Amino acid sequence: MNGRPVILKTIWLNGQRSDIKGTGLGNQFSVHLDGEDVPVKVRRNAQAKRLTLRVDSITGEIKLTLPKYVSERAATRFLNEQQNWLSKERAAIDIGAAISCGSEIPFLGEPHRVVFTGKAPRNVKRGHANITVGGPTDMAPKRLENWFRREAKKLLEERAADHAAGLGLSYNRVSIGDMKSRWGSCSSSGTLRFSWRLLMAPFDVLDYVAAHEVAHLAEMNHSDRFWAQVARRIPDHKSRRAWLRSDGSDLFRIRFSA
Ligand SMILES: [Zn+2]
Repeated sequence: MNGRPVILKTIWLNGQRSDIKGTGLGNQFSVHLDGEDVPVKVRRNAQAKRLTLRVDSITGEIKLTLPKYVSERAATRFLNEQQNWLSKERAAIDIGAAISCGSEIPFLGEPHRVVFTGKAPRNVKRGHANITVGGPTDMAPKRLENWFRREAKKLLEERAADHAAGLGLSYNRVSIGDMKSRWGSCSSSGTLRFSWRLLMAPFDVLDYVAAHEVAHLAEMNHSDRFWAQVARRIPDHKSRRAWLRSDGSDLFRIRFSA
C-alpha cells in the first residue's frame, strides 16, 4: 500500500564526462536554498543516462541520481542551476512543524490536544480530548511517539487476529514501523507490518488496512481474488481506501521529533 507522488526533474547530459568514478559521494552534498544549506542525497547509478533530481513531496528531501561518469563538479553546477526550481518545489510542499505542547493531533481520527506536563510521572495518558505526556519536556515528543507505537501494536494485533480468524488464515507476527510512504505490508514469511501512524487515522481506515494485509496471506497480489477476500471482511473497503488517498498523506507529515 503506497502511492506517494514524487516531483521529478530530469535533465539530459551534454556529453559531460569525467575520470572521477563514484568517489566520495555520500550525504555531504548540499544546495543553498533561501538562506539555508539543504542536504542532497546523491546516488550513482551505472544505468542512468541523465541527472535526475527529485523532491520528496512529503518530506521535502532532495535526491540526485548521477550517471557513472559525471564529476562532482558537474553535479554541483547542475544543482546550483536548479536552485530556483528546487526552492519553488519545496515551497509548494507543506513540511509540517514538529509536535509541541499545545499541538493538535488525531487519535483514531478524533482531534486531541497534546499537553506536556514537564513533571513526573513519566507516562502518557489519553483523556477525552487531551493526550497528556509526563516527564521532561525535551523527550516528550519521543515518549509520545513510543506510546503511539505501543498502542498501535495492541490494536493492530487485535484487528489482524480477528480478520485472520474470520478468513481462516494464519500469520507469523505483527510488527510496527514507520515506513515513509506505506501503511502496511505482508511478507512471504507471514509477517504483517504496519505503520504506527495508522493510529491517527479513523478506526475504520486502520481496520481496513489490517484486513488488507491479512488478505495478502491468501493472495500475494491485488487481483480480483484478493479484493474478494478483503470484501469478505470489509464490504465498503472502497470508501476507506478513498480516505487514505485523500487524507492519508497528512498523517505522514506529522513530525513527532525535530
Ligand atoms: Zn496490498
